[in-house]
Amino acid sequence: MTKINKEKIKVVAFDADDTLWVNEPFFRSAEARFYQILEKYVDKKENGKDFTEELYANEIKNLHIFGYGAKGFMLSMIETALETTEYKIEGADIQKIINMGKEILAYKIDIYPTIEKTLKALEDKYTVICITKGDLLDQESKVARSGLGKYFKDVHVVNEKDPKTYQRILNGLEIQPEEFVMIGNSLKSDVLPVTDLGANAFFIPVEDQWALEAVDEDTIEDKKYIKLERAEEVLNYL
Ligand SMILES: [Mg+2]
Repeated sequence: MTKINKEKIKVVAFDADDTLWVNEPFFRSAEARFYQILEKYVDKKENGKDFTEELYANEIKNLHIFGYGAKGFMLSMIETALETTEYKIEGADIQKIINMGKEILAYKIDIYPTIEKTLKALEDKYTVICITKGDLLDQESKVARSGLGKYFKDVHVVNEKDPKTYQRILNGLEIQPEEFVMIGNSLKSDVLPVTDLGANAFFIPVEDQWALEAVDEDTIEDKKYIKLERAEEVLNYL
């Protein structure tokens, strides 16, 4: 079993979306309403069209241009709407899609129950930071709206969470991988790139996971992370 050598740990990092607060369900809800708008124009059953796949394909295609987050999601919804309705979608419905994007950018932050207690306990013993992927303005706004900013010595908003990004952050902190632990809901972004570097990671899965972040846990042979149900369980290890 994977162990954490807590004597060595200096920096504890948290992912933000779906680790500190609820995020993905806002995207899922917008998506459901988006499909309803499209059904006014395209009979899903008759055409055999799968809007989910169309949207997902556009999101992937646009990722390197728009980056992660609600703005890119909104633009990919608009592009998908134009394509699937063969440019027949009305301006008023485009406006509805834009409004859904704006809603996501302003949602009320719903912090997971044990987060604040956990951050309070950790900040005395470690340097606590936040590493989040996405749009700078949106991610900083969420941290501000959450009121959790005071617990983080630093908030890193990054374009991609790969080993290179984590290594750059470790270099900036002047620490070794074994002195670092990352906590997050995504195996792909928060856990595997971190354990690849030889650093520590806690995986706290959530029910709603964006398809692009989904990794089948059964395919990971050598699990070098610790899986938890709630954030406060990290206090059993740190
Ligand atoms: Mg996350």
